[in-house]
Amino acid sequence: MKFEFPQIIVDLIVNLYFDYDVAANTYPEMISVTTLIDAPYVAQMRKLHEQDLKDKLNNDYDFRLQFARKNWWLILGKAVHSVMEGLPEDRYMKEIRINKEFGDCIVSGKFDVYDKALFELSDYKVTSKFTTSNEIRLRDYFYQLNILKYLLNTVNMTNGEEKYRIDKMNLILFLRDLNPSDMFSNQFPDDNVVSTEVSFIPENDLVKYINDRIAIHLSEYQKDVNNNGCSEKERWYTPETYAVIRKGGKVATKLCEQKGVALRMRDSLNASIIEKNNKKKTGKPEELYQVEYRPACNKRCQDYCDYNIFCPFRKKTLQDIHSRKHIIEE
Ligand code: SF4
Repeated sequence: MKFEFPQIIVDLIVNLYFDYDVAANTYPEMISVTTLIDAPYVAQMRKLHEQDLKDKLNNDYDFRLQFARKNWWLILGKAVHSVMEGLPEDRYMKEIRINKEFGDCIVSGKFDVYDKALFELSDYKVTSKFTTSNEIRLRDYFYQLNILKYLLNTVNMTNGEEKYRIDKMNLILFLRDLNPSDMFSNQFPDDNVVSTEVSFIPENDLVKYINDRIAIHLSEYQKDVNNNGCSEKERWYTPETYAVIRKGGKVATKLCEQKGVALRMRDSLNASIIEKNNKKKTGKPEELYQVEYRPACNKRCQDYCDYNIFCPFRKKTLQDIHSRKHIIEE
């Protein structure tokens, strides 16, 4: 039986992808909270190439299909938010957008759910299981929720001075790629849906953070896109490594930054295996170690950034990366 990615889902995902509340062309005069905490260069790429991306999706079916495959989980995000809409209105406030001026810039945020009975503000993310151990990503989400709390508390939502008491903030994660076997590991949570309490950032620190982020966005926006790019952190850069692995294996026994260190470790592990087998005289073939070269990688550029095909920085760095993963024969 042959299974295919459904055409209707391809179209649905492409439509969902561009269903933004804050238009790309208002950047940087108006910045969404999500964009504020993210890389300025990505926001610039979006502003410059959103129409190019739409054209490419409309004119290149293979690209459209790959794009939908990569972003399939947007459907889950939409589904989760649709379900939340069913929460009773007398207790829950849902998905209200709030704008606030900071100098020349408007910061715009939409919170997911505010529980008027428990005074709790919650944000829902459909995300990878790796988010639970990604401190940088979690920190960004914590700032995002704190900014939403700040907007909710400082902007008049109606005519009066309405403000909302918030005693607790929760980040609720729907882990889209958790497998049954992950639940028995120490690396991941035991459940597909988990929440974590978000600590309150003091208001002075938060306002400083918002203003600093705006300043970074505005100053990066002035730069020539052809001579700029995302930082290593924003590109999820990992340097080249030398992995000591069993022949035929995939998981590294040790990851080394230096080739010489990895080769010495390989030789020492192999010598001890050979010695042990000689003593036991088992006559079994030895399962020796080898060293695998793993090139440096800009993970976000390579697999996650939807504007990578237009990005001048990506084009330049692609030319620099010639090498592929291979076993070192020496
Ligand atoms: S391809 Fe990489 S450098 Fe370019 S915008 Fe995307 S993440 Fe940034």
